[in-house]
Amino acid sequence: MLKTDVCIVGAGPGGVATALKLSYLGIPCILIDKSVFPRDKICGDAISGKVSTLLNRLDPEIMFRFNQRDRQTDVWGVRFVAPNRKIVDIPFKPGYIRNEKAAPGYVSKRVDFDAFLIEEVKRRDNIQFFDQTAIAEFERNEDGYLLSTANRAFQVSCRLLIDASGAHSPFSRKHAGLEMDHAHHAGAVRAYYRNVKDFAVDNFIELHFLKDTTPGYFWVFPLPNGEANVGLGMRSDIIKDRKVNLRKEMLRIIAEDPSIAPRFADAELIGEIQGYGLPLGSKTRQLSGDHYMLVGDAGHLIDPLTGEGIGNAFYSGIIAAEQAEVCLKKEIFSEKFLTAYDIRIQRVLGSEMKLSYQMQRIGSKPFLLNLVTNIIQSNRKILDYFSAMYTDFGLRGQLVKPWFWIKMWIQRPDLKNPRIEKDAKG
Ligand SMILES: Cc1cc2nc3c(=O)[nH]c(=O)nc-3n(C[C@H](O)[C@H](O)[C@H](O)COP(=O)(O)OP(=O)(O)OC[C@H]3O[C@@H](n4cnc5c(N)ncnc54)[C@H](O)[C@@H]3O)c2cc1C
Repeated sequence: MLKTDVCIVGAGPGGVATALKLSYLGIPCILIDKSVFPRDKICGDAISGKVSTLLNRLDPEIMFRFNQRDRQTDVWGVRFVAPNRKIVDIPFKPGYIRNEKAAPGYVSKRVDFDAFLIEEVKRRDNIQFFDQTAIAEFERNEDGYLLSTANRAFQVSCRLLIDASGAHSPFSRKHAGLEMDHAHHAGAVRAYYRNVKDFAVDNFIELHFLKDTTPGYFWVFPLPNGEANVGLGMRSDIIKDRKVNLRKEMLRIIAEDPSIAPRFADAELIGEIQGYGLPLGSKTRQLSGDHYMLVGDAGHLIDPLTGEGIGNAFYSGIIAAEQAEVCLKKEIFSEKFLTAYDIRIQRVLGSEMKLSYQMQRIGSKPFLLNLVTNIIQSNRKILDYFSAMYTDFGLRGQLVKPWFWIKMWIQRPDLKNPRIEKDAKG
């Protein structure tokens, strides 16, 4: 039986971020995954600026090595297509100049991205990594937790368990009590296609809000070598109520939708259409207890508007590692002490999740999406506001205020506010 202070179950982005942060803090840990890498994870493969910012903070060399590869597209913005088919292209940075070395976002197949992260893990001497090891039992013992495979041939006793085993985590459901709630959960399908035509400029990722699938969207994310990640996601309660078959609906959109079908006329499906769940962070959950913390999808931390979960898995992993450092220093692993983790997650991600949830509910009304698109299209300055909103959370909060939209409608952005003016100019 192995013994360690910190054991992380799951080596996706959340588990790897936790292990790398611990490693850089000088704290040895054990990291376990049931898969053999490279392994796939069903995902849209869009990697936001959150991820590159956090990897840069950890060690700029990691992002340098990432950018040396040619397995990702560099992404410079988002194309929103409203139910009335009007298009709004919003760059991630206002007035950006394309710089090949430092893109604000990426699309990278998870099979490649997660394998890259595992290579980074293997560079670190103080992370013991076990693949092909599925943890089946989680038992309390005098240290904290005893983790075992089904045949008990592999066992680890740890003082602190970090569960980063994803959306289907048995520990999160059975031990931490995080039940699936259909109103705070989404289902999505994705497939890879070759030869899709007419992508937006500078690899803008495309979100198509179609009348029948809001709240939720159909996406086309450009990959290298003429490939694309294509998918459709919706909230699970709506899928259930409307009895939507996401696979069929996605194929129908590709075959029949007037703005999408022509682009897929010569396209070829690579492999299968696959589906997976997205536990959304629109409901506050308890993420820690005696001797454990939940990270990433195991803690239901996916953005309820965009479906972005990799960045939040990274954030929660880094915060969990920092909390582990405090626990080890003070030798306290109690539920009460670990609430500090929940408080920090709320502080860092809570308001963003709340705002995304408000926007998700606004987005469920196609007429409102059309109205907002018309307003944005009518004024160049509004586009600049939107670009600034990616990095300025204060500005983003304006989106759910009716007064903001009235002001935009009458085309008088408040340029007297120097902060807004600065951001709008980049
Ligand atoms: C269709 C779809 C599209 C999405 N698109 C995007 C997107 O474009 N951008 C974005 O940011 N997010 C997206 N997401 C969300 C994103 O995929 C997740 O939020 C992200 O993968 C969470 O990372 P994680 O490390 O928490 O979990 P995961 O990536 O799921 O990793 C969990 C790891 O735990 C391992 N594991 C599981 N059980 C055990 C066990 N018992 N023992 C040992 N190991 C175990 C698994 O093998 C896996 O490697 C999408 C999700 C879906 C379903």
